[in-house]
Amino acid sequence: MQEAEVRKNILNFTPGELGDIVTGLGEQKFRAAQVFGWLSKGAASYDEMTNVPKSLREKLEAEYSIGLPEAVRTQEAKDGTVKCLFRFMDGTEVESVFMKYEYGNSICISSQSGCRMGCTFCASTMEGLDRSLTGGEMLGQVLAMRKLTGSDIGHVVIMGMGEPFDNYEEVSRFIRLIHESKGYGLGLRNITVSTCGIIPKIRAFAADFPQVNLAVSLHAPNQEIRQMSMPVAKKYSYDDLLEACREYTEITGRRITFEYAVIDGFNDSAACAEELAGRLKGWLTHVNLIPLNEVEGRSYKTANGNSVKRFKDILEKNGVAVTVRRTLGKDIDAACGQLRRRHAG
Ligand code: SAH
Repeated sequence: MQEAEVRKNILNFTPGELGDIVTGLGEQKFRAAQVFGWLSKGAASYDEMTNVPKSLREKLEAEYSIGLPEAVRTQEAKDGTVKCLFRFMDGTEVESVFMKYEYGNSICISSQSGCRMGCTFCASTMEGLDRSLTGGEMLGQVLAMRKLTGSDIGHVVIMGMGEPFDNYEEVSRFIRLIHESKGYGLGLRNITVSTCGIIPKIRAFAADFPQVNLAVSLHAPNQEIRQMSMPVAKKYSYDDLLEACREYTEITGRRITFEYAVIDGFNDSAACAEELAGRLKGWLTHVNLIPLNEVEGRSYKTANGNSVKRFKDILEKNGVAVTVRRTLGKDIDAACGQLRRRHAG
C-alpha cells in the first residue's frame, strides 16, 4: 500500500460541482470549465493548465489530486490489444483493455476492484470484492489508456472487473462525466454497460440512461443451469430477468445484448441452444457467444469450435441475431481478472 492520500480526486467532479469548488476558493466560476477541459484532455498536473491563474492552480493542488491511475503492468498483443494493470493512489489495482475494431478504438474498463458476485467461471471474483471505484477512477482509466496508447478512444464498455450495477451511483457519475460536452464528450450510444442481472438496476438504468447500451450476462438457457454458475440467479430468477430485459427493450426501443460464455459440456448442447432460441425468439435481442477464456484454478473448459458453430446455427435458424465474439489479445492474459491475479501471485 502507498501512503494514504488525503486529497480528493478532482476527476470525480462534474463541471457544476467544480464551479462550487472554484467559487469556494474565491475564484470565478468560469474557471471550472477550463479546469474540467484540461482534466478531460488528460492533464496530469495543474501546471499544464496554462490559462488557469497560478493562484487557483496552487489552491487546487493543495486540496485535490489528479487521480490518474499509474500503469504498473502493460501487455500488448500482436493484434494491437493493450491490456493494462492500473494502480490508484491507495494501491488498488484494476485492469483495463484497449481494443481495435473496424469501427474504431474501444476500451473495456473496470467498475470495481474484485467483485462479489461469485460467478464460478470468472477470475475477477475469486478473491471477492476489494472495493468499488469512483466515477473519476473510471474516467481515469480512459484518460490514462488514451495517453498510454496515443490513440483516440471512441467506445467505452464497462465490462472489466466488477459488477457495474453493484456500484450504480458511481457508474452513473462516470457516464455523466465522460458524456459531458465540456469534456470528453463521448456519445451515450458509444457506451455499453454489462450486468450479471441485478433486476432493480436494469429498471433504473432504462429510465436513467435509455441511450446507453445494455448487455446482460445470461450464460444459460434456463434457471437450473444459470444458478449453477451464477449465484446472482438465486436472488433474481431467470424468468424475472428476461421479463425485466423485455421491459427494457420496450421502454428504450433498443436492442439488448445477451452474453453467453460457451462452456464445454455445461451450456453448449443443441438442446441448450434450442431452449435459448425459444426464450428469445421474436424480440429485440442480440446474442454474443463468447468462447470461454479458461481461468487458472477453475475447471470449466472452453467449448470446441463445432459446438459454438452449432449453437450459433440453431439461434440463427430461429431468427435470433447472434455473433461469436472475436477473441482479441489471445497471446496475452486476455480474460478479465487474470492479469491482476498473476501480478499479485
Ligand atoms: N459483472 C458484469 C461484467 C463482467 S465481465 C457482468 O457480469 O456482465 C464481462 C463479461 O465477461 C460477462 O459476461 C462475464 O460473465 C464474462 N466472463 C467472465 N469470465 C469469463 C471467462 N472466463 N470467459 C468468458 N467470459 C467471461
